[in-house]
Amino acid sequence: MALSVENNERREAPAPTGRPTRLLAWYDRNRRRLPWRALPGEAIDPYRIWLSEIMLQQTTVKAVGPYFEKFLARWPDVEAMGRASLDDILRMWAGLGYYSRARNLHACAVAVLRDHGGRFPDTEEDLRALPGIGPYTAAAIAAIAFNRRTMPVDGNIERVVTRLFAVDEPLPKAKRRIQTLAATLLGPSRVGRDGKNCAGRDMKIRAGRDSKSRAGDIAQALMDLGAAICTPKKPACVLCPLNDDCAARARGDQETFPRKVPKKAGELRRGAAFVVRRGNDVLVRTRPAKGLLGGMTEVPTSTWLAAQDDVAALKQAPCFESAPRWQRKAGTVTHVFTHFPLELAVYTATVTARTAMPDGMRWVPIARLKDEALPNLMRKVIAHGLGENKEISVAANRRKQQKDPPA
Ligand code: SF4
Repeated sequence: MALSVENNERREAPAPTGRPTRLLAWYDRNRRRLPWRALPGEAIDPYRIWLSEIMLQQTTVKAVGPYFEKFLARWPDVEAMGRASLDDILRMWAGLGYYSRARNLHACAVAVLRDHGGRFPDTEEDLRALPGIGPYTAAAIAAIAFNRRTMPVDGNIERVVTRLFAVDEPLPKAKRRIQTLAATLLGPSRVGRDGKNCAGRDMKIRAGRDSKSRAGDIAQALMDLGAAICTPKKPACVLCPLNDDCAARARGDQETFPRKVPKKAGELRRGAAFVVRRGNDVLVRTRPAKGLLGGMTEVPTSTWLAAQDDVAALKQAPCFESAPRWQRKAGTVTHVFTHFPLELAVYTATVTARTAMPDGMRWVPIARLKDEALPNLMRKVIAHGLGENKEISVAANRRKQQKDPPA
């Protein structure tokens, strides 16, 4: 990586010319067809870009695809979503994980409708003022939907850039430098920040918006390059449009990038979940609106603590007029949240037909569980507790690195 040092400041040397051109030529031939992406010549719909970017936070393209189609069919524009109920959105979101995103989705649609007349603002600054839109998502929407000259650095772009420039500094410390290096791939702007070109002529384009630079396409080209060619293992460098001047390729240590400081695993927490049957009904409750899995449906559970044992957890079982006989199911249900892994023992009980529900809980027919906003953890718990449960399908939801962490 060539650097120039001046006044004790490290300055990035200008990027070799031609990278943006090579990237765009590659993108025009190889771009992925994605349900939220406009085809060449089609108008870009900021609503689709926003919806996909929120769904893609911490989630793979493969997992998001079916959810995106379902949401778009049900709420085709931001106005429809802004008028929807939060419960409906949470139900539709069930299985996609990181549920604060669903609440922010609704809050953002309401804000766009109320404060912006149903049109998404087109600057990073205004986008960041909306619920659930952090720096990455604002940059992605600004670049892709509005062609703003900004570079949203996701996990794919991070990998390409750290290899291209052989960034030895480990993540997360290297993030700022990666951002600076990634921005050099946008190439020179044809319009200055004052909206004038280099001859001083007014381009009649709002500052920072340069339709000729194809900033959004360059960002998407890098995303696609990272997904298809510059993969974590065995990158297909021979097919890469940037292979002529890739520093890691020249060194032969591509797979060692990006460098990372190893993460400490969160401490294991334990608890118990209680699956209570009354005929064909199951006892559930709604979690508090704020916090982990906020507003989602769950069977009653104990607290989740590192030091919890079975006896302490069982003492937190729901109370009925006549105490049921609790049976502990063999094995445990495990789940990994962002900050900690969880292990739940599952207790089951059957109560008589007239048993009233405890305060704050409700009976739901097993056949209607699929309509509840059940997170994956609870789907696993109920399936385990009922022995078999064909009504609940557990959606795969693998994590994807980078992007704004869900609020
Ligand atoms: S040459 Fe290889 S390592 Fe370098 S950016 Fe291209 S695919 Fe990645």
